[in-house]
Amino acid sequence: MAAEILDGRALSKTIAGEVAEQAAAFKEAHGWAPGIAVVQVGEDPASEWYVRQIKRSFDRAGMVFAPHTLPADAQADTLVGLLNELNHDDRTNGIIVQMPLPDHLPQELVTDNLAPAKDVDGIHPISAGRLMQGATDYFAPATPAGGMEMLKRYGIELKGKRAVMVGRSNIVGRPMAMLMLHQHATVTICHSRTIDLGARCREADILVAAIGRAKMITGDMIKPGAVVIDFGVNVVGDGIVGDVDTEAAMEVAGYLTPVPGGTGPMTNIMLMLNTLEAARRQAKG
Ligand code: NDP
Repeated sequence: MAAEILDGRALSKTIAGEVAEQAAAFKEAHGWAPGIAVVQVGEDPASEWYVRQIKRSFDRAGMVFAPHTLPADAQADTLVGLLNELNHDDRTNGIIVQMPLPDHLPQELVTDNLAPAKDVDGIHPISAGRLMQGATDYFAPATPAGGMEMLKRYGIELKGKRAVMVGRSNIVGRPMAMLMLHQHATVTICHSRTIDLGARCREADILVAAIGRAKMITGDMIKPGAVVIDFGVNVVGDGIVGDVDTEAAMEVAGYLTPVPGGTGPMTNIMLMLNTLEAARRQAKG
């Protein structure tokens, strides 16, 4: 039997409607709308495309989107100055900085100078530490948080299940593994040095891929009936494909996120939900 599709496009539309209602109620109560500042250094077509998507989502939800673009040769003190300004601006509730930064600007400039309360993409070491400790007063990175929201909305229980995370990056694999652990899954983290990746993957009731290699997870690596979450975004020809061979996985898996249209649309949704929550916390003082 073909796998059931976990439809990120449809789900993100539903949640976007809920966010718009909540943002309107917030504005009614406080007289201002929750807002995000998006900082970009230099020009990068992929990054610009992503920023346009964020703007569209925030505009539709009636939330504030404030772009801040610095030239590619901006120096460290300019970037840190801008972050400090945004950290102290009452109408900026969330801040994200588009990565990668130009080579002369180390990523730590951002991670160390962002106010954790406004870190709606969970990159600050305090956010990462609070995630590790299982606390709730922080923001998890938006992409894995979106994957977890999909599982929740589709009623997929993690408690007691074997979850296998392929990939251990700070923005996707590692936080996703922690989030699944907090939902009481028994989690294995695989990476480029894992021996017999296929055998590890076949153990998974929930198999999650964040590798960055087109169609690397083949049908024979999937346990029949497993839930397969694919975070991969790989440009192939004119289109994009995931880290999972979707066609083959459809024949074996129980549930599957397609690429495109699976986990991708959920990332913006989580940025909106996190910004709304940040605004609520900041409004309480
Ligand atoms: P990284 O390159 O930072 O991490 C990739 C991970 O995959 C690493 O941990 C690496 O292992 C592991 N890996 C690489 N090759 C293999 C292999 N042969 N076998 C097992 N593991 C391997 O990527 P990201 O986490 O940033 O991104 C992963 C994917 O998710 C990409 O396709 C990216 O485009 C996509 N993405 C999607 C987003 C969305 O909105 N849906 C947002 C962000 C990313 P090691 O640590 O040993 O090097």
